[in-house]
Amino acid sequence: MLQSKMNDKMLKFVKIGKQTPPKRDVLDRKEDFKEIYKEFINEKAKEQSSRCSQCGVPFCQLHCPLGNNIPDWLKLTAEDRLKEAYELSQSTNNMPEICGRICPQDRLCEGNCVIEQSGHGTVTIGSIETFITENAWENGWIQPIEISEEKNETVGIIGAGPAGLACAEQLRKEGYQVTIYDRYDRPGGLLIYGIPNFKLEKFVVERRTKFLKDSGVNFVLNFEAGKDSTLNELKNQHDAILIATGVYKAREVDLPGSSLDNIFPAMEFLTASNKKCLGDKVEMFDNGTLNAEGKNIVVIGGGDTAMDCVRTSVRQKAKSVKCLYRRDKENMPGSAREVANAEEEGVEFIWLSNPKEFKGSKKIESLIIDKMKLGEPDDSGRRKPIIKENSEFKIEADIVIKALGFDPEELPKLFGEEKLQVTKWGTIKTDFDTMETNIAGIFAAGDIIRGASLVVWAIKDGRDAAESIQKYLELKEKQNQKVA
Ligand SMILES: Cc1cc2nc3c(=O)[nH]c(=O)nc-3n(C[C@H](O)[C@H](O)[C@H](O)COP(=O)(O)OP(=O)(O)OC[C@H]3O[C@@H](n4cnc5c(N)ncnc54)[C@H](O)[C@@H]3O)c2cc1C
Ligand code: SF4
Repeated sequence: MLQSKMNDKMLKFVKIGKQTPPKRDVLDRKEDFKEIYKEFINEKAKEQSSRCSQCGVPFCQLHCPLGNNIPDWLKLTAEDRLKEAYELSQSTNNMPEICGRICPQDRLCEGNCVIEQSGHGTVTIGSIETFITENAWENGWIQPIEISEEKNETVGIIGAGPAGLACAEQLRKEGYQVTIYDRYDRPGGLLIYGIPNFKLEKFVVERRTKFLKDSGVNFVLNFEAGKDSTLNELKNQHDAILIATGVYKAREVDLPGSSLDNIFPAMEFLTASNKKCLGDKVEMFDNGTLNAEGKNIVVIGGGDTAMDCVRTSVRQKAKSVKCLYRRDKENMPGSAREVANAEEEGVEFIWLSNPKEFKGSKKIESLIIDKMKLGEPDDSGRRKPIIKENSEFKIEADIVIKALGFDPEELPKLFGEEKLQVTKWGTIKTDFDTMETNIAGIFAAGDIIRGASLVVWAIKDGRDAAESIQKYLELKEKQNQKVA
């Protein structure tokens, strides 16, 4: 049905193009193509949505951290009731078009779809989620929040990543005055400077933050809590505070030769690339230092950040891209889908390998690598990698990117607030139910309480924190009224 419709349209398009070339310019044809493409996507989304068996036990929904009502918005999409589908989808998610693009669906909703489980290929939930919200943006259904009653209480949010942004939106909807502080020059956190453009286009993030600005959320950028003010000073300016600062301390590889030039932490490489995508002048990229073009790139690590680095290097036209991981493919922490994508794009994975030494005169030139084997399971339950005796080999490298994960910064020290309690991993300790820290009125959300995690979990935390902050402020108001 779709095929025949498409063919007719395509035919008409081609015919028009052939019959009247002098009267039609390229732009007209582009518009025709856009229309046909839009219709194609529309039909595809409906077709995919109608594959949902409405199975009764929504495993997809149970495995979505936000508990998105997936079966119902799939049904509405299949019935072409797109506005209702959008309303339902956005009621549990502040950024459905972002989650639809970058959630590791194979580990969450899609991986648990019963159709996938029965071997018939998952309903493409993420793509449909993106489609529903993109359609809403296009049709002007997403408008700045209308506040029915402005409240006097103010909330300060430190960190403009997904946790901070989701919390801000929820509180603003309730009429609170919200200010977000961020040390970067742009809001978005890892959405803007971590996740590469080919996975999440920057305009998608900028559109969300503009929506919040237009809704009355106040952004204070280039402001570093701890340096530009202490936590206590911020607390004195607001009725409640949310800490949503993420985790940024890169794990190190401390080996002979570690101080050679052209060995970079992943975030330095990815931020430069993202800034270029945003049109910024980036000296280290422009002078070639952080540009992979024509170079042999070696990425160390096996998580999603490593996958983003190898795939960014491919797009920058690297001469070769190798990924070193000390365990085997089955034990990679990164998404299987991401690994498959990287392999397809020509990345060479060197499984069971661990760098032993960086070599070069001033800049990195090569790495000496040990081969590994897997031993007994360690504390994490994963089999421990052990060096194979006399197995070392050498590979060439012009740039080495270290993508070994992130730890929290020392926030109590950084914020000048030694009382702030943290866990043994350095993440902020919060009450499990309320997300409040040990200091009354200060809450925390996102990676800074979980350790490096996912955008969808950061959004969930931001929403939960907003609910708790609202309860806290309402209680405070009641207590003040009693005293008065
Ligand atoms: C390279 C990379 C790729 C990823 N890809 C994916 C993916 O595909 N899918 C997925 O779901 N997740 C992905 N993640 C994980 C995801 O990005 C994070 O889990 C999520 O962004 C955490 O959100 P957050 O709001 O807690 O913190 P962040 O997004 O890190 O935001 C924290 C913000 O706080 C600001 N900040 C920090 N300290 C201060 C301070 N002292 N003062 C003021 N501001 C401060 C930072 O500048 C930042 O803007 C990826 C992570 C990385 C590093
Ligand atoms: S938010 Fe993520 S896990 Fe939930 S339905 Fe969307 S893509 Fe799936």
